[in-house]
Amino acid sequence: MSLRSRDQKHIWHPLTQHQLYPETLPIVKAEGVFFYDENGKRYIDGISSWYTSMYGHGNAKITAAVAKQMQTLDFVMFSGFTHAPAVELSEKLMEILPENQAKIFFNDNGSTAIEAAIKMALQYYYNRGEKRDTLIALEDGFHGDTFGAMSASGISSYNGPFEDFLLKVERIPVPTHDNRDEVLDQLETVLQNNSCAAFIFEPLVQGAAGMKFHGAKELDLLIKKCQDAAVLCIADEIMTGFGKTGKNFASDHLTNPPDILCLGKALTAGMFPLSITSCSQKVFDAFLSNEVTKGFFHAHTFSAHPLGCASAIAGLDLLNSVEILGKRQHIAENHKKFVERITHHEKVSNARCKGVILAVDLNIKAHRYGNLRDTLYHFFMDHGVNLRPLGNTIYTIPPYVIGEEELQHIYDTIEKALDIV
Ligand SMILES: *Cc1c(COP(=O)(O)O)cnc(C)c1O
Repeated sequence: MSLRSRDQKHIWHPLTQHQLYPETLPIVKAEGVFFYDENGKRYIDGISSWYTSMYGHGNAKITAAVAKQMQTLDFVMFSGFTHAPAVELSEKLMEILPENQAKIFFNDNGSTAIEAAIKMALQYYYNRGEKRDTLIALEDGFHGDTFGAMSASGISSYNGPFEDFLLKVERIPVPTHDNRDEVLDQLETVLQNNSCAAFIFEPLVQGAAGMKFHGAKELDLLIKKCQDAAVLCIADEIMTGFGKTGKNFASDHLTNPPDILCLGKALTAGMFPLSITSCSQKVFDAFLSNEVTKGFFHAHTFSAHPLGCASAIAGLDLLNSVEILGKRQHIAENHKKFVERITHHEKVSNARCKGVILAVDLNIKAHRYGNLRDTLYHFFMDHGVNLRPLGNTIYTIPPYVIGEEELQHIYDTIEKALDIV
């Protein structure tokens, strides 16, 4: 039996309607910017496997670091114990995180990083004897699939069956140059009428919404207003973190740093599931007490897994190396040229880029998981490029290590795709 049919026998895939899409593609190998299916066909990983493998698959520096760690200390629980990879990673992160960040809490995936952030914010007030029960979030945000994260997310196609079971969230529109005064007023009303604990947002780029951009200035105003009202601000940088927007973090474009920051995805260069929730000293201090239960009683079995920490340290060494910085710059410049080339195309309603993120909206209405998306997806895969359109938005976040030829192939394939829709 083929892998494909054996898969169908017992496996339930994520984000999949199995009745309509029973087939999955077996991938047997990945190397650099490519992965290969069982027939030997190769695909450029145009979205870096959900923006994780930024230094390429099987990067020798990362695999060597993990192999070495595996032979020294494979795993130990992180409650009551510590280890060098976690300590070293915390030190390295502190060098590049926004200056107000002081403590690192380890989790094992993006959603649980958000979950920890939300619980930190709620308990921060609880410990001070205040009950604050409301979160503020942006429309169309995406923060993950666990209950707290889902509550904060505003993309209804994911939340439908669970709407009645979520945390209390007030949603405000994404701020733009034009609507920013209205949104500020709306935020003011939300702050006055509710007991708000935290404002959670994807800074500058809303990934799952279709790589939608908003301005740092406008977001800064919202953060300022929240912080003035003593509402904790949570930056979800799970997608934007580690250089995607041109700087180390999207928060580096802001004047007002967040109180809490969530990182995942590219943290371990795609090697291992690991995430972190960092916070300011002020947040951490609110959990110090002679009462044991005022501590943060939250843990995941695999918190701070040494192999994840080792891959993250190796990834951080690469992030701002001369070689990778040059490549990040090169991609960003090429993206700009491609945006200019395609922006007036009759089928394009908007083309934009920021750092290594490039998105093209088609002026064709489409469902998130509709026919247009499927047609495009299959066209890209036939042409050897893994791109997964979100509704009518085509986007690429290529690995930093992508070569010139492969990068141009992604652009050419996107341009050709416009002829078939
Ligand atoms: C992917 C993502 C998450 C969820 O991370 P998982 O590791 O998939 O749980 C949360 N927020 C943003 C912005 C993401 O891109």
